[in-house]
Amino acid sequence: MVSERIDRIKQTLPEGVRLVAVSKYHPVEMIQEAYDGGQRIFGESHVQELVQKYDILPKDIQWHFIGHLQTNKVKYIAPFVSLIHAVDSEHLLREIDKQAKKCGRIIPVLMQVHVAKEETKFGFLPDELLAFMQSGAWQQYENVSIEGLMCMATNTDDEAEIAREFEQAQQLFEMVNGKWLNGKWTTRSWGMSDDYPIAVQHGSNMVRIGSLIFGERVYS
Ligand SMILES: *Cc1c(COP(=O)(O)O)cnc(C)c1O
Repeated sequence: MVSERIDRIKQTLPEGVRLVAVSKYHPVEMIQEAYDGGQRIFGESHVQELVQKYDILPKDIQWHFIGHLQTNKVKYIAPFVSLIHAVDSEHLLREIDKQAKKCGRIIPVLMQVHVAKEETKFGFLPDELLAFMQSGAWQQYENVSIEGLMCMATNTDDEAEIAREFEQAQQLFEMVNGKWLNGKWTTRSWGMSDDYPIAVQHGSNMVRIGSLIFGERVYS
């Protein structure tokens, strides 16, 4: 049962760590089941799928967009999205700001930082993020609220490597938050089904868990 799996995972999470139930590729019936058990935060990574689910499901769900977001699709989710996890360019930040303004909203976002060894993962390199923060360019976007960092670790069995990557994200978070934000950043989004216990040991306070809750995804 979906709700039982969620409860079991929540019991293992330290106080203050929020759970994003990653429901991509899973049917609305399963999301409804999790909702009925009390879960309110769900993560999706495809715009069209998210919009369809948003239309059908209860309106007090907090939808998080966790995947790579194309700028030309921001407009479809801007009216309702609760948090965009993976801002990987200033171009995307600018578009979110523009669409948020049109909706009369301030959209919360996280900056994605690339700490993994894999080349395929998106995100600012740590040095790029520091340069971007130092530039102050982010301050002009009044309709986005940058609230922290998101990252993905390398997909590996090497737990020491995963820990190192999360630790790097954690140190970056502390540095940016201290230097430019007066400690106002709140959110550290790292950890998935296979690595979330390591993530919470290394600073995560928001885990994004899919297959452990909903089972294996069937890609069609
Ligand atoms: C799919 C996805 C997850 C969840 O992955 P699981 O291994 O199923 O827990 C977490 N974060 C992002 C960015 C994802 O795309």
